[in-house]
Amino acid sequence: MTRKIHVMSGRLIIALLFTLSWNCYGQWHKQDAGIMGTSIKVEIWHSDAERAKVLMSWVFDEMRRIDRLMSPYKPKSELALINSQASLGPVTVSPELFRLLQMSVAHGVRSEGQFDITFASIGYRYDYRQSIKPEESEIAQALPAIDFRSIKLESAKNTVMFLHPNTRIDLGGIAKGYAVDLAVDYLIKQGIQHGIVTAGGDSRIIGDRKGRPWMLGVKSPRGEGHIVTLPVESLALSTSGDYERFFEVDGKRHHHIIDPSSGRSVTGVQSVTIMGPTAMQTDALSTTVFVMGVKKGLAYIEQQSDYSAIIIDDRGKLFYSSDLVNPR
Ligand code: ADP
Ligand code: MG
Repeated sequence: MTRKIHVMSGRLIIALLFTLSWNCYGQWHKQDAGIMGTSIKVEIWHSDAERAKVLMSWVFDEMRRIDRLMSPYKPKSELALINSQASLGPVTVSPELFRLLQMSVAHGVRSEGQFDITFASIGYRYDYRQSIKPEESEIAQALPAIDFRSIKLESAKNTVMFLHPNTRIDLGGIAKGYAVDLAVDYLIKQGIQHGIVTAGGDSRIIGDRKGRPWMLGVKSPRGEGHIVTLPVESLALSTSGDYERFFEVDGKRHHHIIDPSSGRSVTGVQSVTIMGPTAMQTDALSTTVFVMGVKKGLAYIEQQSDYSAIIIDDRGKLFYSSDLVNPR
């Protein structure tokens, strides 16, 4: 009898050890790729290397699909089609792009036009690689075309139309965050509990880093390394910086975040980091707050309870939203 109990408990221990080791068993899997004009990084914890590879490939394929749909540089993208046709009449678009346009316009309404995808009406005349900027006369001519209110969306038919002949749009301020959310939602559905997906300045974290928080840094806008490092879990984080894409002429920095009211690069801020639940929102908000500047931008984030901000102004001074100064 005693012997039998011994054998049973031995089996039990082996079964228990097996279950425990199975749960702990696993490792980090990491892959990078250059897609959507930026660097995409995926890192996940998984027990099966082959399965992890399949999941990461899905993410990269999805990013490539979104790029094909929304790139303003690919002449056959849906976005390029809108830009060439929507001033002539309603253009039918995919439900996915339509929804993103609705979200973009909603950010335009809420921010009173500081986030405005029609910035592209002049934005397309900047070439940061070749240090080309539009002439003053061109800017003046383009300004009337910059107005999110001239985008007419018809949800019954998924059509988009521009009310101004020179309007163009660009989703560079929101599409990467959208893509990161799609990837993360998919990975969570596939059972991933620890991981991170990054597209340029937009990241979203799944869970913790196996028993400790993820450490994410805010880049120093003018120097090397990080100016702030934050412990974070299950969160999205986006940074917009004037150092990402820019050139200088006569000491003046021309970068990729455009003030829709002037058609020129925003001054006064070097970087904005927004944290919150989803990357699409933090992406759009980091661009919005960048345009708003320190005072208005902080007030804007204070109105939105799930979001936090870290702003670095043009003298390198740091500003935090109140929840970061006095954590609850
Ligand atoms: P990135 O991650 O590419 O650096 P950001 O989130 O910093 O992107 O947003 C910058 C991008 O947003 C620009 O490259 C441009 O495509 C777009 N953009 C620039 N100005 C505005 C604006 N006022 N409203 C909406 N989108 C903008
Ligand atoms: Mg952004």
